Amino acid sequence: MAAREFEVIYRWFAGLGAGDAVALGVGDDAAILDLPTGCQMVVSTDTLVEGVHFLPETLPEDIAYRAVATAASDLAAMAAAPLGMTLALTLPEADDLWLHGFSQGLAAAVADTGLPLVGGDTTQGPLTLSVTVMGAVPNGQALLRSGARVGDRLWVTHTLGDAAAALAMLQGELADTWLPEFDHQDWLIDRFNRPTPRLDFALGLRGRATACIDISDGLLADARHIADASGVALHIDAQLIPLSAVLIDCPNRELALRWALTGGDDYELLFTLPPGLDAPPECTLIGEVRAGLGVHCDHPAANPGAGGHLGYAHFH
Ligand code: ADP
Ligand code: MG
Repeated sequence: MAAREFEVIYRWFAGLGAGDAVALGVGDDAAILDLPTGCQMVVSTDTLVEGVHFLPETLPEDIAYRAVATAASDLAAMAAAPLGMTLALTLPEADDLWLHGFSQGLAAAVADTGLPLVGGDTTQGPLTLSVTVMGAVPNGQALLRSGARVGDRLWVTHTLGDAAAALAMLQGELADTWLPEFDHQDWLIDRFNRPTPRLDFALGLRGRATACIDISDGLLADARHIADASGVALHIDAQLIPLSAVLIDCPNRELALRWALTGGDDYELLFTLPPGLDAPPECTLIGEVRAGLGVHCDHPAANPGAGGHLGYAHFH
């Protein structure tokens, strides 16, 4: 590797690697992590490509933050506690101003997720980030998509649709219809650029939730993954979907619900609990698990082809 690349690594990516599980971080041929006794390691990788997964004008701070947060969300979905992460970064050029912003976003994400940066790879080419996250879960306690049972209730954390609304706003699609109040716009944009992986919350689901997934592709699409993996039907009541105060302000409720049902990028958790169990206050009950297959939702957004007909959508 060229000297300049070492300089980039040590200037911008070293120093974020401290953590309880880190026996050896950046600087050797590989990192070493201590796995807590009686735990399994949970591993997931996510790749972001400029122009595909983020808009070219996105700030480097936000690119870094979002890459880590979205990868960490997969650990939350499995109820894994953060151990550490690696970052494979492909850069068109080593621009110090860009790298400064990038490393600041990275540092914020390391602090917020509790995932120390223990290694990675740095190469030249079109801007691409690949984050691998590692977490720990007591043997057999990881939350899978496949555990939902008939009679379970379906819950979701916080609010849905904010990230899709933000994306529509950033792409200038809202100008003619509705713009959130100026003070709310930054909040909305942060919901897209700086999603909050529900890591701490997820630890409380161990031993309680029967299935869990993080909502990256949209509520209906991700619900379908649980339905398919569990061999059950998920029935979702569109009227129960939690919307943020900002989206409740949107005069076009259809549009707001459409974002919440089909827009991705919220990184909230969707999970099932047996009927006797209640979820904490930041969660909303949105439906239930019945015998059958697929996702059923009584809203036209769930069935775009129906042209406003209020029927059931069957995502088989
Ligand atoms: P090797 O050639 O042995 O693969 P490298 O020269 O690629 O090692 O990397 C040197 C060290 O810097 C390694 O510890 C590696 O994990 C770390 N590293 C390289 N790129 C990054 C990055 N983008 N973020 C964090 N650590 C990195
Ligand atoms: Mg290498």
